Amino acid sequence: MYIDTHCHLDFPEFDQDREAVIKGSKAQGIDFLVNVGASLKSSGDSLELAKKYPFVYASIGIHPHEADRFNAEDEKKLRAFAQSEKVVAIGEIGLDYYRNFSRPENQKPLFLALLKLAKDLNLPLVIHTRQAENDTLEILKKMQPISAVVHCFSGDTQFLKACLDLGFFISFTCNITYKKAEGLRQAVAQAPLERIFLETDAPYLAPEGLRGKRNEPINVKYVAAEIARVKGVSAEEVARATSENAKNFFKLK
Ligand SMILES: [Zn+2]
Repeated sequence: MYIDTHCHLDFPEFDQDREAVIKGSKAQGIDFLVNVGASLKSSGDSLELAKKYPFVYASIGIHPHEADRFNAEDEKKLRAFAQSEKVVAIGEIGLDYYRNFSRPENQKPLFLALLKLAKDLNLPLVIHTRQAENDTLEILKKMQPISAVVHCFSGDTQFLKACLDLGFFISFTCNITYKKAEGLRQAVAQAPLERIFLETDAPYLAPEGLRGKRNEPINVKYVAAEIARVKGVSAEEVARATSENAKNFFKLK
């Protein structure tokens, strides 16, 4: 059993064959999908997908890239979406100083507003952070206690330790299979299996050997295989443990 805890099947890359990809994932052993909203529109679309397929759940949020456009009306709409029992988390939310598509001074208020929403609704968080680890930690420490997963982990082992100390989960994508990803594999080695989720971030980050192609939930198996190789355990054990983690965290059933 596998769970893809972070994919974007609402994105236009899947417009031609969305239904086939979703049904195919289930047929090939992916038990649950968490489709993650990155904007108000994609949060609404995620919820629609979750309502349509019993094994698909939605996380709703607004990516830091969208921060310059965020307003109070968006927050109200997200709050309304979150009333559905198919919404299992708030995210992806966070800070991104790598691309800086939105200004950092706008990213922080958005992050704080949606953290508050998650706390009000008692929902766990899906965190996106890229080259913004210190600011992210500073904000999250003030919001304790919170339940969070750091998605598409890209930090160093010091950041990893800080996240683990706060009780957060760590989610790894297919980029751990890349030839140059030694740093990420070190993080895989140091993160205990009880704190790891599997994800693809599809359509992005297809695994080594398929780079440049569209990523799909089925490729979560490559993530499990790589974690198994690094840790010296079986892929079945990785699948079992990470699925248990994700089921408890998102309350999937
Ligand atoms: Zn994502």
